[in-house]
Amino acid sequence: MTKNIEHENIKNKCIEESDDPIVFGEGNLEAKIVLIGEAPGSKEIALGRPFVGQAGKNLDEFLEIVNLDRDDIYITNVVKIRPYRINKKTNRKVNRPPTKSEIEKYSKYLFKELDIIKPKVVVTLGNVPLQTMLRDKNIKISEFHGKPHGTEKINIFPLYHPAAVIYNRSLKDTYINDLERLRDYIKENNL
Ligand code: URA
Repeated sequence: MTKNIEHENIKNKCIEESDDPIVFGEGNLEAKIVLIGEAPGSKEIALGRPFVGQAGKNLDEFLEIVNLDRDDIYITNVVKIRPYRINKKTNRKVNRPPTKSEIEKYSKYLFKELDIIKPKVVVTLGNVPLQTMLRDKNIKISEFHGKPHGTEKINIFPLYHPAAVIYNRSLKDTYINDLERLRDYIKENNL
């Protein structure tokens, strides 16, 4: 089966198993680099694509620093639906962190995506994808960011989530520094 068909099959399975609209990973199925976020937000759900809202704008700046093109990589999330709650005052949907069961349910699909693509490195954005890849809920991005972490199965390059940098401006310099390290890592390893 070609990678395209396999990818289409698991995406369809994910749609079937979900009551809410999903945003599946997209991009180059031959990519050496896969970027993993936490979960889609409202804009991503509206357009059916990962990282197209504000987080997507930050991601584009990020890709420029790292010298990567969206076409060369594959971008996905751990959770494929938008985790939200209703704000009682405004009656509007607001984002919330994904639950353990959402992470368990959708990480099955993440691992299938990685099985198809077999990247050389996965870049995790924030705590949720790092904890999911390392299967350890107690791991903190603050201890892992900006340096490659190899496991038996896969190489991980953990970064803060671009959105965390918006909420915490003091992370900006660290984040830029981490991106430069990622750029060097990509160059040194011919990725
Ligand atoms: N944040 C994420 O982690 N993923 C998206 O797709 C959008 C925002």
